[in-house]
Amino acid sequence: METLWSDFLNSEWHDWKGSGYSEDRLGQEKWQTYYLNQWQLKAQVPVDEETVGVMREFRSRLHDMSVRCVAGGVITAEDVEDLNRILDLGPVKRMVKMEAGELGIGFVPVREDWQQVMAEVAAGFLRSLIDGERGRIRICDNPDCRWVFYDDTRNRTKKYCDDKMCGNLMKVRRFRAKKKQEQNRAPDSKEDK
Ligand SMILES: [Zn+2]
Repeated sequence: METLWSDFLNSEWHDWKGSGYSEDRLGQEKWQTYYLNQWQLKAQVPVDEETVGVMREFRSRLHDMSVRCVAGGVITAEDVEDLNRILDLGPVKRMVKMEAGELGIGFVPVREDWQQVMAEVAAGFLRSLIDGERGRIRICDNPDCRWVFYDDTRNRTKKYCDDKMCGNLMKVRRFRAKKKQEQNRAPDSKEDK
């Protein structure tokens, strides 16, 4: 499942097919417009260079935290401090919500800029940690892909960002590796089997 925060992290794109090509989409106007539309956020496009720099730094910190969570690590006091600093950039106002007869309380972003967007990303990440489960944060098992995602499947066994793409690719790679291994095996050892 793609989330507000994983989509932000994945702006650092790696070619999953293994060409070694990667692209930082954060500074691209096309990505910025896509991202705002996708998550219904408002901010100025294109983002100025200085803000892009701040966003990159934040993305890298958030990526570190995600990788640590995947490895079973914990959120440190330093992480808390950094997340609070980012959350501070985007104030929210409270609003009563009524959806299908259900009463609720909503938090509406106050500002319409990329500082607010970063705060929403940090809040989304925290929500996944708090309401969801830390153990559901995944990094695609295809080493060329490294796509970050949230595993919302029932049995939590999702290994690839996309089974049809990375899943199939890895299956083919495993098959080829096995075949090669079999071919390389000496003829006499073959008889032992
Ligand atoms: Zn993948």
